[in-house]
Amino acid sequence: MKFVAGWLSQMKFDSVIVRFGGEIGIKGKWTRRAYEKLLLKNIKRVLKHYGVSHEEIIRRLGRIYIKTRNAQEVASRLTCVFGVSSVSPAAETTSEMNEVVQKAVELADTVLKSRSSFAVRCRRIGEHPYSSMGICEEAGRRILVNLEKRNLRVDLRNPQFTIGVEVRDDCAYVYAETLQGVDGFPLGSQPKVICLLSGGIDSPVACWLAMKRGCTIIPVYFDIIPFTSEEVTAKALNVARKLFEWSIGFPRKVYIVSHGRNLETFIRESPRKLTCILCKRMMYRIAERIAEMEEAEGIITGESIGEQASQTLKNLRVLNEVATKYPVHRPLLGFNKLETEELAKKISTFKISTRKTGGCSAAPKKPATGAKLEAVKRAEQELDIEGMVKESVREAKTVIVQA
Ligand code: ATP
Ligand code: MG
Repeated sequence: MKFVAGWLSQMKFDSVIVRFGGEIGIKGKWTRRAYEKLLLKNIKRVLKHYGVSHEEIIRRLGRIYIKTRNAQEVASRLTCVFGVSSVSPAAETTSEMNEVVQKAVELADTVLKSRSSFAVRCRRIGEHPYSSMGICEEAGRRILVNLEKRNLRVDLRNPQFTIGVEVRDDCAYVYAETLQGVDGFPLGSQPKVICLLSGGIDSPVACWLAMKRGCTIIPVYFDIIPFTSEEVTAKALNVARKLFEWSIGFPRKVYIVSHGRNLETFIRESPRKLTCILCKRMMYRIAERIAEMEEAEGIITGESIGEQASQTLKNLRVLNEVATKYPVHRPLLGFNKLETEELAKKISTFKISTRKTGGCSAAPKKPATGAKLEAVKRAEQELDIEGMVKESVREAKTVIVQA
């Protein structure tokens, strides 16, 4: 957990400003209100989960203000809540001009280094006997006078430090740092999705992108022992645990489907070059059944065009053909590997995903890159596909991944 700069501890912050403008801000009135309420609920869930105390949470149009003696920790925690665009630990005062300016000077005294440049920026909502510009000018002037010995200078274009002032009706907040949030939509604002989570680099990122748009996730892991090891299952569950850190307060259920026997059947009974396609089509079929059971709205995978032999556009078409009830969404479709890796690092799944565990030993030396649907269907007709699906679903286990 990263906390904000050390100097903040010298100033008594008693509040956190939570901003969630962005896309929530441009929604219609009712949607926006619903999203804001959900965001508030999710924020409370996170604070409760981490045991961070707070006295009061106030929701206003476009903002949430949290009164707390743990402003730094609250701010840090909330950067990982979907829908939060930024946060600032702040000190609250009344909106009386003298008090606002006094607080700004106090904060400047804590923050500004000798010979540094600064700017005061103000946002104001409500009726006040002064303008935003008036606050900036007066606070800037008083900072220069009171801290004269520091040889400060005002630089409105490219300041080294910014003292922020936010006046809201009869309250005001001063702050010096804004932490970037993760943005997106509040979790739960979209329905559940089934996520094919392999524990590799890509699928966790795909899951996370769906979460960022408001979907809650139900990961499904296909255990292909004896073609991989127990360690791979453990890795997938660890990745799921990491992902669930982004969905505090929501269900933490993961499905584990035994898929090894299916794979053995494909290797034994079907053309070898079709193994990966048959394996994936089976995953999709089973995922659809689970989606039905869970009343989910779609299936997410970490596929991107051409990343593996089974992910050429031709093969993706053959895969899609089997998903008849639910759409398969592929958030990484156009991502380069490096872009995916960057994101995996940002969301803290990369380290787990890259632990050495060995790949899938069932993959043929020469997998089909342009499988023909007819050939795949012919191979499947030789097998009791429906029986295999039913058996896999019946034997599927669910685990609750503890935090
Ligand atoms: P990942 O994308 O997770 O790194 P990968 O690059 O090895 O895995 P493939 O094996 O081609 O890719 O799989 C493509 C997608 O299929 C994965 O992103 C994931 O969504 C799903 N998938 C693959 N293997 C499994 C598995 N064992 N359990 C669940 N889903 C899987
Ligand atoms: Mg992949």
